[in-house]
Amino acid sequence: MKFEKLNERKVSRDPILGYINIDYKIIWDLLNSKEMQRLRRIHQLGGTFQVFPSAEHSRFTHSLGTYENARRIVEEVKDVKNLLSEEDKVKVMCAALLHDIGHGPFSHAFESIHPVHHEKYSVQIIEKNSEVHQILKRVNPDFPNDVSSIIKKTNENPLLSQIVSSQIDADRMDYLLRDAYFTGTPYGYFDVERILRVMKVTNNIITFKSSGISAIENYVMGRYHMYNQVYYHPTSISYEIIILKFLHRFKELYLNNYKFKQVPSILVPFFINEDLVSNEEHFLLDESTIIHYAKNAMNEDDLILKDLARRLLNRDLFKYKVIDNEEEIEKIKQERIKNGFDPKYYLHQERPVQVVYKKYGRQDMTAINILTPNGEIKELNEVSLVVKALSQSRYTNKGELTVFFPLI
Ligand code: CA
Repeated sequence: MKFEKLNERKVSRDPILGYINIDYKIIWDLLNSKEMQRLRRIHQLGGTFQVFPSAEHSRFTHSLGTYENARRIVEEVKDVKNLLSEEDKVKVMCAALLHDIGHGPFSHAFESIHPVHHEKYSVQIIEKNSEVHQILKRVNPDFPNDVSSIIKKTNENPLLSQIVSSQIDADRMDYLLRDAYFTGTPYGYFDVERILRVMKVTNNIITFKSSGISAIENYVMGRYHMYNQVYYHPTSISYEIIILKFLHRFKELYLNNYKFKQVPSILVPFFINEDLVSNEEHFLLDESTIIHYAKNAMNEDDLILKDLARRLLNRDLFKYKVIDNEEEIEKIKQERIKNGFDPKYYLHQERPVQVVYKKYGRQDMTAINILTPNGEIKELNEVSLVVKALSQSRYTNKGELTVFFPLI
């Protein structure tokens, strides 16, 4: 099978990768589909921009970066290049570009009122009735399912999934650097060039030559710092909690036949379906929808909905406290009740567990596998003291109980 190429390579400038390079027409067409364009309207880091004001980058630019990393892996890493057919390479590039296509707005908050994982939507958009699906189907009728099988990790060649999703993959190598850059967190940086240079394939498993161990350790440490400083920053969690509580109130009112002045019609399918909504319904939902409904909610009579909408729009967040005893939580709860705050909406507990890197078995495809000079494959914990210490730490095993509540 021959894949059509563009007359000349298209390039986009990118602050992280320098350039994004596109040779195949199918990639260009996917990029211009309405489902890909929708990702411009969703922040890569959800509410993190409320804490790191420049973290405005979108899922769209992250998807482009993931594609570019995958392209470099299949075209520049010698072992991968030699092992894969052109068809498999294009499949991997498509899967990398589309891996986040099903993301909703503020995914973590949203998935708590509509408990369907975004990956299921990615698969549905690729496999059924969408512009993306139509473009993939032009290759051949099986092509959409071949691409989604990489995301589902059911493809007969597990190497394809490892490129898109494993411990060091096209996805993570993009978001860690991109998030570090846009949050202004330089300890998140690591040496991608070196990692690509030491990448090998051994027994159909991605491995890294032990001479590149420093680059790998640096990558794991980068992840550790990003979790610590950015992903689990309590203030951004606090913003997501406001969104979560706001959506919960919206849903509860709707299910109890509350008479809205303006019915949140785009949200309704997500309120009433426990399972996947249609691609058309999913397409309409992005962050601007949530903001728009928050503005509308300011005109509703329900005081809780109104207050949560105001908090969301004006960044009046909940405070947080790390607490390790039940009595103190109960005290905070009783004080909120006394002051007219329903604890269902105004008290929230989280224990964020930071799995930076754990210990894996030997030759586990999901681990980071190191190729020693005598050809043995070792799991990263066996060869790196730094990583070993990290995978045994409390960060990996037990998060701290954090309680969120409004000040009185
Ligand atoms: Ca991703």
